[in-house]
Amino acid sequence: MTERFSGSFTQQEPIPEEGIAAAVEVMRHGRLHRYNTAPGEVAETVLLEQEFAALTGAKYCLAVASGGYAMGCALRALGVEAGDAVLSNGFTLAPVPGAIAALGARPVFVEVTDDLVLDFADLAVKARATGARVLMLSHMRGHVCDMDALMALCADLGVQVIEDCAHTMGATWNGVPSGWHGVVGCYSMQTYKHVNSGEGGFLISDDPDVMARAVLLSGSYMLYGKHLAAPGPEAFEAVRMVTPNVSGRMDNLRAAILRPQLRQLADRVDRWEARYRVLEAGLAGVPGLALIGRPDQERFVGSSFQFRLPDWSKGRIGLFLSRTLARGVELKWFGAEQPVAFTSRYDHWGYAGGQSLPQTDRILAGLIDMRVPLTFSLEDCALIARIIKEEVQIVGQGPEPEGVTAPVVQ
Ligand SMILES: *Cc1c(COP(=O)(O)O)cnc(C)c1O
Repeated sequence: MTERFSGSFTQQEPIPEEGIAAAVEVMRHGRLHRYNTAPGEVAETVLLEQEFAALTGAKYCLAVASGGYAMGCALRALGVEAGDAVLSNGFTLAPVPGAIAALGARPVFVEVTDDLVLDFADLAVKARATGARVLMLSHMRGHVCDMDALMALCADLGVQVIEDCAHTMGATWNGVPSGWHGVVGCYSMQTYKHVNSGEGGFLISDDPDVMARAVLLSGSYMLYGKHLAAPGPEAFEAVRMVTPNVSGRMDNLRAAILRPQLRQLADRVDRWEARYRVLEAGLAGVPGLALIGRPDQERFVGSSFQFRLPDWSKGRIGLFLSRTLARGVELKWFGAEQPVAFTSRYDHWGYAGGQSLPQTDRILAGLIDMRVPLTFSLEDCALIARIIKEEVQIVGQGPEPEGVTAPVVQ
């Protein structure tokens, strides 16, 4: 019998009842704007920031409108200007180079390794060649590089690090929360990330000057004194009259939905890891399929799963994707000619100029990607692994297909 999977790869868990009740409360009183508070009231947004700072250990936290906004705000807060080179991973998602380009700055892509993390040798070469002062480090698909080695290298190179933690909220490297190594950590609360308010973002930092600028940039007018996870008024003195307001605030409705989810984050990380390990075990040792290495220092969040089909032709990968899709398993491919849904590649971002990353090209040509929503059970993950394994064996050992193109999965 041919097994088929019937679950949805895009269905997240519902908002916790506690979050729904808190959101209804905010709608009843109507004070959705973060600075619109009754006497003595502390806004949901302010409490959310305090709670996320406590969760990561960071001194300061700012909640904003999206992850992309958080990254743009972090770049501005570090003084990046039009024309500046900003380093980033050759394998990342469109909002990352987009945040750099939105400032008129120039994304400079750095090669990634077979384990999908930044290639340190290429980082050093590109940093020296371009004089870039900032690295927008993307922990793409939750793969964390050796952060101790990276921070030492960046200190040597005179490069400041902003972390894109859209896929690592809840992850750690050597016990240190992802986002707390760099000057600023940026997170996303968009529906497909680890907590869900539809849209939303955080910045964390221990640097009072950077955070004061970020708070002003986010559109705090002269109400920054209402923030309880921000530096004191002295940090704002020098910058309050010279920092532009680039509005991108979080509101109390979304903060109300998020607060109970932060309390569930550690449990979600455990549940994601269990699902990831079932997939990994089910695909271990399959000829032609390469798993991604996961170092012991990395506590990752398995909200997605990647594997490589190294040296497979485009036709063979297209056939494999069609066959797995026909059995209900939706896989994405980073090697497709055309960008599909969320899956675009550095050479699709024409505004960044023609950059050439042969090593990353080789890796992405065989890189398969899958969402793992928490609505999947462990049995679902075991079934998905069996389907992938069978199809890798059938297509990998079959004749070279002709004229097969990959299916378009949105
Ligand atoms: C989602 C995402 C972002 C940006 O988040 P938005 O909240 O959608 O703006 C940044 N980087 C990566 C890798 C992402 O997946």
